[in-house]
Amino acid sequence: MLYTPPLARLVEELSKLPGVGPKTAQRLAFHLLRVPPEEARSLAQAIVEAREKISYCRRCFNFAEGDLCEYCADTRRDPALVCVVERPQDIVAVERTGEFRGLYHVLGGAISPIDGIGPEELRIRELLDRVRKDAVREVIIATNPRVEGEATAMYLANLLKPLGVRATRIASGLPVGGDLEYADEVTLGRALKGRHEL
Ligand SMILES: [Zn+2]
Repeated sequence: MLYTPPLARLVEELSKLPGVGPKTAQRLAFHLLRVPPEEARSLAQAIVEAREKISYCRRCFNFAEGDLCEYCADTRRDPALVCVVERPQDIVAVERTGEFRGLYHVLGGAISPIDGIGPEELRIRELLDRVRKDAVREVIIATNPRVEGEATAMYLANLLKPLGVRATRIASGLPVGGDLEYADEVTLGRALKGRHEL
């Protein structure tokens, strides 16, 4: 046995995190054993509190502390303009551009037959319901610029157009195969401004 059992457990739990290999897990675990106990407790509590208090916004499926996320609850934003993204972290990327004052809709991923993700696994029905109910004028499809994101954009455009809503796609210029999350705000802001009809 390399570690005493509680330490082994900590290393094991940390190594389950994305991007954390066994070496990093060990480094983090040893670090946590060196910091003051309050600091370690504060980290543990932040994790528990975030998991207990945060659920999904009932309108856009972003993470939210209450019924609605901060964007859906903000009455200064335009509910007739909806930006569709794959994941909640993509919202952060779009917000950083400072170019968007509408609301969001989080699909929960992109269509990917290889991974067994079909339209049924995504929140597409909920998007169409919203478009009908909230008199949405334009849906900006900001799925990631990779094969799955493009396929999802085309799929959505075909469903949206018969509803009489504008379906637009953020402009190319984002690195193909990249994620919104990693695009700089200037490039993403430009992509948003230069969106085109689908
Ligand atoms: Zn929301």
